[in-house]
Amino acid sequence: MTKSSVLGYPRIGADREWKKALEAFWSGKLEEPEFHRQLQEIRLNHLRKQQEKGIDLIPVNDFSYYDHVLDTAAMFGIIPKRFDYEGGVVPLSVYYGVARGTKDAAASEMTKWFNTNYHYIVPELDGATLVLAENKPLIAYREAKERLGIEGKPVIVGPLTFLKLSKGYRSEELDVWLSRLLPLYVQMLQELAREGVQWVQIDEPILVTSVSNDDIRRLKTIYTTFAASVPDLNIMMQTYFESAEHYSDIVALPVKGIGLDFVHGLSGNLASIQAYGFPADKVLGAGIVDGRGIWKAPLRDKLSLLHKLAETVSPDRLIVQSSCSLLHVPVTAKSETKLAPELRHALAFAEEKLEELALLTKALTHDEIAVADELERCDRALQALKLSSERNRSDIQQAVSAVSAADAGRSRPFAERHQEQQKRWQLPLFPTTTIGSFPQTAEVRKARQQWRKREWTSERYAAFIREQIEVWIKLQEEIGLDVLVHGEFERTDMVEFFGEKLAGFAFTQNGWVQSYGSRCVKPPIIFGDVAFEGAMTVEETKYAQSLTERPVKGMLTGPITIMNWSFVREDISREQIAYQLAYALRQEVEALEGAGIGMIQVDEPAVREGLPLKQAEQANYLAWAVKAFRIATSTVKPSTQIHTHMCYCEFHDMIDSIEAMDADVISIETSRSHGELIHSFETSTYKLGIGLGVYDIHSPRVPRVEEMTGMIDRALRVLDPKLFWINPDCGLKTRGFEETVASLRNMVEATQLARRKH
Ligand code: GLN
Ligand code: ZN
Repeated sequence: MTKSSVLGYPRIGADREWKKALEAFWSGKLEEPEFHRQLQEIRLNHLRKQQEKGIDLIPVNDFSYYDHVLDTAAMFGIIPKRFDYEGGVVPLSVYYGVARGTKDAAASEMTKWFNTNYHYIVPELDGATLVLAENKPLIAYREAKERLGIEGKPVIVGPLTFLKLSKGYRSEELDVWLSRLLPLYVQMLQELAREGVQWVQIDEPILVTSVSNDDIRRLKTIYTTFAASVPDLNIMMQTYFESAEHYSDIVALPVKGIGLDFVHGLSGNLASIQAYGFPADKVLGAGIVDGRGIWKAPLRDKLSLLHKLAETVSPDRLIVQSSCSLLHVPVTAKSETKLAPELRHALAFAEEKLEELALLTKALTHDEIAVADELERCDRALQALKLSSERNRSDIQQAVSAVSAADAGRSRPFAERHQEQQKRWQLPLFPTTTIGSFPQTAEVRKARQQWRKREWTSERYAAFIREQIEVWIKLQEEIGLDVLVHGEFERTDMVEFFGEKLAGFAFTQNGWVQSYGSRCVKPPIIFGDVAFEGAMTVEETKYAQSLTERPVKGMLTGPITIMNWSFVREDISREQIAYQLAYALRQEVEALEGAGIGMIQVDEPAVREGLPLKQAEQANYLAWAVKAFRIATSTVKPSTQIHTHMCYCEFHDMIDSIEAMDADVISIETSRSHGELIHSFETSTYKLGIGLGVYDIHSPRVPRVEEMTGMIDRALRVLDPKLFWINPDCGLKTRGFEETVASLRNMVEATQLARRKH
């Protein structure tokens, strides 16, 4: 009989009770025993939910107190030396120290989990003595069994993926680390086998990226060792987020099951199965319900896909499962009562996906007649969404296709624009500026709350925002900055603000997703054709400009960042969505220019996040991402200066694309990455304006003048002084008032010193 399975469930709870418990514990409002109790209750609720919905293979050990990669490291005693850890079970204080830093030791690095918006803590291997400090999967298995009678399926990050995502070793030492780690995995699995565990899911998502032949050799060693040590344990070797590379090697591994993603890796995985078949002694974990998207699955299409797979893999060897962990989607769509009905009925968050999995499994085992009503309901919901007038705006579609068919480029090359802009602005050497936002103090947030709750009229709120702008324009002048900003006081968030003003967006009440640790985000939904409906930022920018002789930079979020930080529709390509956004933003850029704003910054910090995992697809993505930026920014006059900003990602393999965006000035974060970035630009031929981030904005510490001077001198050894700008790493909205003013004063002083020297 076909079984259903889930690869992982959201941790945060329908009401973000997980987040609240963590934060209460950190702030000392919750004692440790009560904290454990609350988290257990949340965990058991999630298990109950899956049991109730009829899932056969329910994941355990997917739950975490922070992050599952950190859990894996802690399980093997991998704690950086700078923390007080003496072996044994890792105490919570140490665990959270690694995640968040302590007063004496910096937190471990945090980075994105493949191409998702989930961030994991990067394990640091150097100096670690590996031991099995605690068999977490076993504890989780026992709990589910004892408390709920659930025969859970422990989920474990696989050794190859774990090592490849860790740092603190040289690549030639990888085999040494593997030989240390492998016996601990074996010990853990043996304890599970002894306990009577039937299935374990070992996640190796690294296999969808381009791994080397050496890695495939390691993979064989790992799974052959497991097969020899725990012959009776059913191992599901799980991949996700894309199609698996080295398919024939992978399906030849001595494991019971292979899990493949038939949503995000559909064409590749299907082609592999059709070309090479699937071994008769194995089970196929068919990931067909999207673990990352928020839309209802088209059940009939999914069923035909399952039938197609069943031509190669008999139904008793098929497991119907989510494409990846449901960690990446919100908990339940049940509470979304305020959305338009055609949208509301087309949503499936984690809980609804459980129903889809159970239903597909039932249809496959029994008959489609058994689920006829549900299939019809699904058809109707998806049809209504398809027919939604918001999705069918031919005016927008025509305009966007005309715009994207044309070449998007500035009318004059950079060198000429640069001259005109210099003539217009007469900026000093090394102009100083900031990235856009100034501190969102409690007062600012409170004002917004009052306005949202209608306690304040729109007029009163607008007047309050104007006051803030005025305060900061004066301050910026007094500090001596050259290019000013209005401060973004009217914005909560750089995507939501624009989404609320553009057509085609919807906002959930409770669609939260874990981003890192207790931090959750509530991405907007781009569900219709995106359209400009009127100026979004002109009012505030114009007001700011009216208060000063110095240039005020307009401030927009770029098309790719808006898209990558939203959930998007799936009936048109991401490329098309990006062009729609770009076209809408172009109208805002033109409106700003028309209102006399001569410098406009279009932020694109999230370009890197959308980069496909498959190398072969990256160039195409970058090409249309660049094009979208150019569509948004290229129609302005040569004397209008276009800025962009990027931060906290790897740039070194993207410099050509960044250059192709053709922004007159890019401001980039540099100090957090300790100048690695300069190195990227040093080896390239980048020849447009660059604003260097001279201090990290994540800390309340006021940087000293000499620190910034050091960064400036170092950069000027590489970069053209005539094209060089000076700015902080990123926006200042999370900082306090005093520290911001003091830091900017020091930045201006460092700039003056540099001007004298060069
Ligand atoms: N303009 C934005 C700000 O200053 C940029 C934020 C970002 O890069 N994430 O807040
Ligand atoms: Zn930034």
